[in-house]
Amino acid sequence: MGDKKILCIGLVCLDIINVVDKYPEEDTDTSFILNDFQMYKIDISLLLEHAECSFPASVVISSVTTGSRTILHMNSFIVGDFARRGVDISGVAWQKWGETPCACCVVSLGNGSRTVVLSDTNLPDVSVEDFSKVDLSQYKWIHWEGRNADEQVKMIERVREYNSKQEEKNRITISVEIEKIREPLYQLFPLGDLVFVSKDVAQHFGFTSAAAALKGFCGRLRKGATLICAWAEKGADAMGPDGVIIHSDAFPPEKLVDTLGAGDTFNASMIYSLSNGGSLQDALTFGCQIAGKKCGVHGYDGIS
Ligand code: ADP
Repeated sequence: MGDKKILCIGLVCLDIINVVDKYPEEDTDTSFILNDFQMYKIDISLLLEHAECSFPASVVISSVTTGSRTILHMNSFIVGDFARRGVDISGVAWQKWGETPCACCVVSLGNGSRTVVLSDTNLPDVSVEDFSKVDLSQYKWIHWEGRNADEQVKMIERVREYNSKQEEKNRITISVEIEKIREPLYQLFPLGDLVFVSKDVAQHFGFTSAAAALKGFCGRLRKGATLICAWAEKGADAMGPDGVIIHSDAFPPEKLVDTLGAGDTFNASMIYSLSNGGSLQDALTFGCQIAGKKCGVHGYDGIS
């Protein structure tokens, strides 16, 4: 695998996080304790502060359509943050129209609640055409955040086709995340070598634990695949090709501060560990450790 990189395909969203003592009354002025910008849906960026990583998410060049200075600032913040974290963004699919999604979040220290107002997003997803420009020989791993599944199926087909012509050591590992409750995303189950399914999707199907979800969904996987399901403070479970379910408890921080992005951190840490030769149990435990650490700090700095 040598110096090959990990490619992450999803969407960047800028979170503006205001931390307050107590959730404010409507129509009043409140000072925040901490104001922070962070990006999520960048599963890999944090994990990969130490691993070379490329990230072709959809990021917009909005000046073409909106001329909005705010959005230009958002983009320069995003690009700057990736650079600071050592994420290679040369593969970003810059869009000519649409707006970078932005979420305003109020985190209340009083009861730990987080209230999110998300701007409607019209930013195009990474397309098959964008993906056709990717030089696959640079990568050892490609991760898809399930979004425009019909297109993603075709991107994954391209990688399978590529893999079929490679020696084992040069094959790209394919991982997918099925996080949202949306019928079209379920077609991704049989496509990944590694599949992350969320607690939300599991509960939607009537499963009340990670282990039950793994048993319930495993028939949908391709042969030899691994399925993973994280369950917040209960930790996470995984089932490898041998069908055995393994578990890691969560690693709760001393004080629960901010769980926004815990799932992304977990995914990222697991991929980091597995792509460096860790066993499934090592990766699961590492995923929970780093995600737990993340829950104890605002944002992502200092967790890896
Ligand atoms: P998200 O809500 O961001 O999707 P998940 O519920 O999928 O996050 O949790 C991912 C991982 O983060 C869990 O497996 C666990 O290790 C960690 N985690 C999440 N919430 C907590 C918590 N309250 N305490 C400790 N660890 C947590």
